[in-house]
Amino acid sequence: MNKSMLRTVAVMSALSITGCGASSVPVATTAAAEASSEAATTAAAETVESTGSLTDGTYTASAKGMDGDITAEVVVKDGKIAEINYTEQDETAGVGDKALKLMAKAIIEHQSLGVDAISGATVSSSAVRMLVSDAVEQAGGDVSEWKNREVKLEVKDETIDCDVVVVGAGIAGLAAAQKAMREGADVVVVEKLAFGGGTSIFSSGSFIAADTAEGVPELVEKWVKRNKITERNPLDMDKINTACAVSPDVLQLLTDAKVDYKLNEEGTMVPAASEQAKKNAENIQLATAKVKVKGGQALVNQLEDNLAENGVPIYFNTKATKLITDADNHVTGVVCESKTGTKTINAKAVVLACGDYAWNDELTGELAPDALHNFTSTAVSNTGDGINMAVEVGAVKSAFGESMSGCFAPDPYDMPVVGQPNNSYPFECLLLDNKGNRPVSEALGVHDQMIYFINEGEADYGWVVMDQEIADKFLKLDEYLERTSEGSVIQAYKEDSIEALAKDMNLDPATVQATVDQYNKMCEAGEDTDNGKDAQYLSAIDAGPFYAVKEYDLTRGNYGGIETNLAGEVTDKDGNAIPGLYAAGIISSAGFFGDYYPGREALGVGAYMGFISGENAAKYAAK
Ligand SMILES: Cc1cc2nc3c(=O)[nH]c(=O)nc-3n(C[C@H](O)[C@H](O)[C@H](O)COP(=O)(O)OP(=O)(O)OC[C@H]3O[C@@H](n4cnc5c(N)ncnc54)[C@H](O)[C@@H]3O)c2cc1C
Repeated sequence: MNKSMLRTVAVMSALSITGCGASSVPVATTAAAEASSEAATTAAAETVESTGSLTDGTYTASAKGMDGDITAEVVVKDGKIAEINYTEQDETAGVGDKALKLMAKAIIEHQSLGVDAISGATVSSSAVRMLVSDAVEQAGGDVSEWKNREVKLEVKDETIDCDVVVVGAGIAGLAAAQKAMREGADVVVVEKLAFGGGTSIFSSGSFIAADTAEGVPELVEKWVKRNKITERNPLDMDKINTACAVSPDVLQLLTDAKVDYKLNEEGTMVPAASEQAKKNAENIQLATAKVKVKGGQALVNQLEDNLAENGVPIYFNTKATKLITDADNHVTGVVCESKTGTKTINAKAVVLACGDYAWNDELTGELAPDALHNFTSTAVSNTGDGINMAVEVGAVKSAFGESMSGCFAPDPYDMPVVGQPNNSYPFECLLLDNKGNRPVSEALGVHDQMIYFINEGEADYGWVVMDQEIADKFLKLDEYLERTSEGSVIQAYKEDSIEALAKDMNLDPATVQATVDQYNKMCEAGEDTDNGKDAQYLSAIDAGPFYAVKEYDLTRGNYGGIETNLAGEVTDKDGNAIPGLYAAGIISSAGFFGDYYPGREALGVGAYMGFISGENAAKYAAK
């Protein structure tokens, strides 16, 4: 199976309806989602009455989730499941743990195991089904009957009127909604997934910023310096100046929305949760280290909660499909689809903040062809919907798009946990390319390293080679060894000799041996004269057994998208604004980054341009 096919399978499995022949509408249970649950479930689901009843009691059951065992106490009262209380779980913060709540809520509401999995968190969802099945069995119920219980939905179309509708609840959409709300607009947010945050939720939540107007020129200078500017992809200084100019106001908005963060000495806005996450992970293998709350999660959840407190509804599981225009091609709303029917949202202005297009092969092939065969850790819902909707009403796709440097991961479908300041392996290892050579330092900053593998190396994967001492520090190694089989995407090997390992990796044994020998010589001398790796990470690979793990480069998404002007208005082929249509975030990010994405700027583009487009959309709506 090639990567393109694997990507397709992953999207399908993540987005597909995986219920057992039945259907339901799970609703979010964060404070924000609770506050807007009325809106999210306007077309209430109706449960078909079931017959079998369970024996009252509390039943403990476990199942394997995405990040280890999930255990819950399932309380049966009056023959029905009354509560599902998790006593142990370590699912991905902000995604898997939300899915647990949503699944529990849906199962209790419908008294059925035929509820749908939560899009984007199918493994966690399946685990809940499995453990509740176990509890049902313990309580004397018929599991297959519970799985087949039909759950009928009342499908009802509805029309909603508002000033500004924001499509997408990532950082850009939430910033736009926050600012438009603070400008006095009546705001509605629609989000395709069952939870907010998109890709933003997977990030560390950090971006470069300035908290005073005097600090803005320095921010601009830093922004430019961090990017590699080439003829092929020059920076758009007007856009960068405009975005950075609102940085102090954006930080003030975050403060007003009660986001817990600080601007550190390096001029980076860091959510408090991100600092804690780094400490928990002891600054090593952050990509796979387990942390309770990520910075990105803390940032988006607080922005969502604050919107809810201010009465702004977020309609989850609601996918915008088409922009509404009037006779003059002014955008006047958006049509959305959900399992409970069509929502026609009439608005004076629409802000598209639908994220990137890395999960859309057609758009990727057209806008960022080099990224077509890369795996990505962007949200599975980022399929370029906003780009396609905008183009239908006359928007123009940016000529330049590129994949964003990401991180290495042995399992390309295992979403990283923090924004990967470091990589997913011990720095003492040896990182080989597809020829068996060692092109870069294993301890190099993740962005620089990925730039080599994504853009300059011949293959978009590397091999981590270790001996036992180093392998002891490699998280989840046993799991990867166990999951390796012919044709499986995960490739991890253990052998007694480097030669055998080279054969497993399909590399020339003589080349690999020469690379290992040269590396060991440098370790002995205490200096990496080839790639300059810090001496503290130089550890000879000399005591078997030896291990190799294939590491895929995961991009953070593709930047580029549609053209916008400095006011965040979407523009047509003549450069004129399409009235009523705004866009913000990675969907309209051409000109913000050079050839390679340098990190800690994408959230800035989202927050800054979200703020600007939200403000202008509200002002336009008030006219
Ligand atoms: C692992 C990882 C770590 C990162 N770390 C950092 C970092 O530390 N700092 C940094 O600056 N950047 C980081 N990035 C990049 C950054 O997170 C993203 O580029 C940024 O979050 C994009 O924000 P956005 O709001 O434009 O899109 P998103 O956050 O992806 O939000 C888009 C939203 O739109 C929704 N949507 C899509 N289509 C529709 C539709 N048709 N209808 C309704 N909703 C729709 C999606 O479901 C999604 O929720 C990281 C990226 C990754 C993958």
